[in-house]
Amino acid sequence: MSINIAIDGPAGAGKSTIARRAAKELGFIYVDTGALYRTVGVGAMRKNADTKSASQVAPLLDEMKIELKFVDGEQVVLLNGEDVRVAIRTPEASMAASDVSAIPEVRAFLFELQRSIARENNCIMDGRDIGTVVLPEAQIKIFLTASAEERARRRYKELCEKGIESDYETVLKEMIQRDYNDSHRAIAPLKAADDAIIVDTSDINLEQSIEKLTGIIKERL
Ligand code: C5P
Repeated sequence: MSINIAIDGPAGAGKSTIARRAAKELGFIYVDTGALYRTVGVGAMRKNADTKSASQVAPLLDEMKIELKFVDGEQVVLLNGEDVRVAIRTPEASMAASDVSAIPEVRAFLFELQRSIARENNCIMDGRDIGTVVLPEAQIKIFLTASAEERARRRYKELCEKGIESDYETVLKEMIQRDYNDSHRAIAPLKAADDAIIVDTSDINLEQSIEKLTGIIKERL
């Protein structure tokens, strides 16, 4: 049986960076499920659909072939054969992902893909509903969080480093909006599983966060 570690939490808590590094240390694959919602968001935007509209987005799913590949342990997302790793990282793609993630058909569409990867691989999977919905039987569940201001600071820095134009106030505003959307949607809202370990990274740096997370995982495995 494969070992599955679920990491959930709000945008910008450092899930992906921390989970990626922890996975490398453990020799597990790292699965970023946000990338899947982003891919559906980008696919819908490209068809000029209103990303909030279930009736516009759901029919497009039949035309979207989404695949995950792992190259040297790195996740590559393909949309109809195209590598969309860069296209899914814009602020527009973030909002589109948040929009489409509230559509039940989109969640159902991505559910089996996520489950099948977890069945076949030892993995650390990060998202919003991994411990609660996708992998409720995961051996370890972690809920990673930090204050909205600290998360916005980190996301802003990341966008600057990637050369994507933005400003801190807008990033913070969008972060708060996404938190609200993600935790108030009717289906699979962002929340910690009852048996999740809560880790707050507001006052610790990246290295300390990675150390803390790998410490928790190693202790429990
Ligand atoms: O993690 P990331 O910020 O890339 O996710 C983008 C969006 O996808 C989130 O704001 C959330 O709305 C959605 N998402 C989700 N469930 C997941 C992962 C991401 O609803 N498991």
